[in-house]
Amino acid sequence: MLEASGAEVVHVDVMDGRFVPNITLGMPVVAAMRKVTKLPLDCHLMIVEPSRYALEFVEAGASWVSVHQEADPHVHRTLDSIRKAGAKAGVVLNPGTPVETLTDLFGCFDFVLLMSVNPGFGGQSFIPRILDKVRRLDALRTERQTPFLIQVDGGVSLDNAAELVQAGADCLVAGNAVFKAQDPVAAIHALRATMRAGK
Ligand code: ZN
Repeated sequence: MLEASGAEVVHVDVMDGRFVPNITLGMPVVAAMRKVTKLPLDCHLMIVEPSRYALEFVEAGASWVSVHQEADPHVHRTLDSIRKAGAKAGVVLNPGTPVETLTDLFGCFDFVLLMSVNPGFGGQSFIPRILDKVRRLDALRTERQTPFLIQVDGGVSLDNAAELVQAGADCLVAGNAVFKAQDPVAAIHALRATMRAGK
């Protein structure tokens, strides 16, 4: 269904019950997903000590791996190891972590994931002030002439997709907006059309 829908990436939320309250899935499920789709798998690691497991997710089939800056005191090294393993490396910021903390990592990652809810559960409401973070990060990458993608995760829907793209987001992660819709394929088409209009 996802392959036929025009979705470009499958985002996989990995939660460990420690960095966030919930527990979801690990490497065996990612390996099983790898067998049933050609779409890139994007593993968002909401786990403590992500450096211990990031490469195992690449081995399991992830093409993109992102780690929380808040969870890793050596995020520079972890990003480097993900890239060396052949995957796109991303750094994730919780709603309360300023985008300015990333400037010394510019050039060391392929994408930034800005959380627009506090991570840990699906179905939460979008935090509107994230739009300002997206704008500030977009301005920083222009000013420093450093290319990377800006991804937004949490409460993304038709209500905010156009605004997010206008603010500078390149990649929107949608959960409930797609999977709780009566027609998930139509929901993906509508989101993509809204993103194009926003651009
Ligand atoms: Zn996520």
